Amino acid sequence: MRLAILGATGSVGTTAINAIRSGLIDCNVAALVSCTSPLDGLSSEFSSPALVAAGKSDEEIRSFIASSSPDIILNAVSGTAGLKYTLMAIEEGIDIALANKESLVMGGRLVMREAREKGVRLIPVDSEHSAIYSLMKGRSPRNLIITASGGPFLEREDLSRVTVEEALAHPVWKMGKKITIDSATGANKGQEVIEAAMLFGFPPERIRVVVHRQSIVHSMIEMDDGAVYALLSRPDMTLPVVSALTGIDSGMDAVPPLSFESLDLSFRAWDDERFPMLSLAYEALRREGSYTIAYAAADETLVDRFLNHAISFCDIPRIARDVLDMDWSEEPLSFDMITATAERARRAAEALC
Ligand code: NDP
Ligand code: MG
Repeated sequence: MRLAILGATGSVGTTAINAIRSGLIDCNVAALVSCTSPLDGLSSEFSSPALVAAGKSDEEIRSFIASSSPDIILNAVSGTAGLKYTLMAIEEGIDIALANKESLVMGGRLVMREAREKGVRLIPVDSEHSAIYSLMKGRSPRNLIITASGGPFLEREDLSRVTVEEALAHPVWKMGKKITIDSATGANKGQEVIEAAMLFGFPPERIRVVVHRQSIVHSMIEMDDGAVYALLSRPDMTLPVVSALTGIDSGMDAVPPLSFESLDLSFRAWDDERFPMLSLAYEALRREGSYTIAYAAADETLVDRFLNHAISFCDIPRIARDVLDMDWSEEPLSFDMITATAERARRAAEALC
């Protein structure tokens, strides 16, 4: 298998690199891409062509990826830039192991349709969707149940004075900055509900979220007869990365097995009062049009402003709410429309900061 790793220097990219080093993924690294981080070390380790994408045109990037002729691309690029890479891969007819959330949250039905038309497989890497993807093999569930760790502030009543450092300290997962802040506000779960709706073709009312502190149950599916299937493992992105790239069971331990003697699993309801970003995502999904694009683009700007100490933690859902109150009813018919709408939402959020 020839694998191109986009976002090779990030959290998910590094998980994939380590899984290759330890023999969990048997592949030829066909190409490595980062934004600005140097790739010399990885490039010589794997004897792979590498591209630092900053300052390169889309055409240069596309021809670099296409000329490396991968069988599959791991899209572990963060943010909206990830959508561009998903589109390139679809146009080139290359299967995608998809970690980047924006590809589905913004690209939505258009990405799904184009992938279907080109016969490109989109294999989820996000742990919740990876779990649902494997649980759904041969099953048609009534509901999808996505688990949420609840982030660092699950037990904290007053969120008005949350600092950047506190928001960056996730209790379970070690991830990139954007997704860590999104986990603290609930926007990450919101994006995951949208991702699930797009990927599995489920309406919002058939996707539920439940808080599960331990992050051992990665998600569940509920059948018509009430039976619930769950996927359990230690919280480690190695498992979803390896299963997306090698098939469901690689035959080797991707994570150490669970020890049930020390497991204490608990579940509770999501608190919409303190974490309104989830209900805003449901609203964006229900309103269709370009609302999910506005949701994700506004969030991207707001997280950036928060990380730069320009707005407070509670400003993020407040301003996102105001952005969604604007008119985003136009259905995007092209990727240029998506980009233009995202830019409009970013400017709207910026102006409200
Ligand atoms: P990181 O911030 O850790 O890494 C992002 C990677 O993308 C870096 O390699 C970065 O390169 C690269 N990158 C950013 N912009 C560009 C660009 N324009 N062109 C090429 N490369 C670019 O992010 P994560 O690994 O945490 O997340 C990646 C994606 O996966 C996100 O969409 C996230 O939501 C999703 N995800 C992450 C999970 C996790 O556990 N971390 C879990 C589930 C989903 P550089 O080093 O040069 O900046
Ligand atoms: Mg996830």
